[in-house]
Amino acid sequence: MSDTPPRPQDKGAGRVTEARNSAVGEHAPAKKAKAANGAKPESRLALVRRARRINRELAEVYPYAHPELDFENPFQLLVATVLSAQTTDLRVNQTTPGLFAAYPTPEEMAAAVPEELEEIIRPTGFFRAKAKSLLGLSAALRDRFDGEVPGRLEDLVSLPGVGRKTANVVLGNAFGVPGVTVDTHFGRLVRRWKWTEQEDPEKVEAEVTALFPKSDWTMLSHRVIFHGRRICHARKPACGACPIAPLCPAYGEGETDPDKARKLLKYEMAGRPGQRLSPPPDYPGKPAPPLGAG
Ligand code: SF4
Repeated sequence: MSDTPPRPQDKGAGRVTEARNSAVGEHAPAKKAKAANGAKPESRLALVRRARRINRELAEVYPYAHPELDFENPFQLLVATVLSAQTTDLRVNQTTPGLFAAYPTPEEMAAAVPEELEEIIRPTGFFRAKAKSLLGLSAALRDRFDGEVPGRLEDLVSLPGVGRKTANVVLGNAFGVPGVTVDTHFGRLVRRWKWTEQEDPEKVEAEVTALFPKSDWTMLSHRVIFHGRRICHARKPACGACPIAPLCPAYGEGETDPDKARKLLKYEMAGRPGQRLSPPPDYPGKPAPPLGAG
């Protein structure tokens, strides 16, 4: 036996294997999911307990969950989050090193030649609209906030191109203010789990935050988004390799065959690079390649 403590990815992989075994066994996930889905509507108390249990299980699977945008300060996170609309975090992370080298501060970005800024952020798509937002928010930071990113929701959403989702990402990850980020993954998963039936992100946020203490909100967001990107995909969730299958009313919506499901896993779960070029030290996967390198 090795003296080496288990690495996070081994722990996660172990949880996946456990789930696979139980999925293959007596169809326990299907039975329990049926109970969660069953004839009697789930009580509020049971829903809260199940939701918190899912969060605990996800914490075991993804102890290294983190925001998947590279940033070194609140300004960089704000800019990266604005750029992340309609594209992948990977593409943003591959673009921002050049962007922040050219314009490291709000003052410098506000003074950028629009066409030059557009050219740098072109790989993230919708580059004209995004350049307009970046010029506007940088000027607003320079003129109204002394060149600093404000740490209050009402100030953040007053910046051009900054909505509630972006503001929550910045507050949660640059200022330590608890917040739930309702992106496409988060919305899809919490509806699959019957935590809410709402489609509107603000209503989803209100219903989900009511299930958890405030101190859980930020990490819950990262874990759910990690799960959505790695296992519970939009088109074909890998149910047969899912560690929370026994708690999921949607078990069976995706691939239940354990071997086939395992082939659907992504990023560090499949030994492939993650989305960050500079991931945190505890991230068990490989860093993403720079732009044009793969
Ligand atoms: S992968 Fe399947 S079992 Fe797991 S959370 Fe998604 S729908 Fe539920």
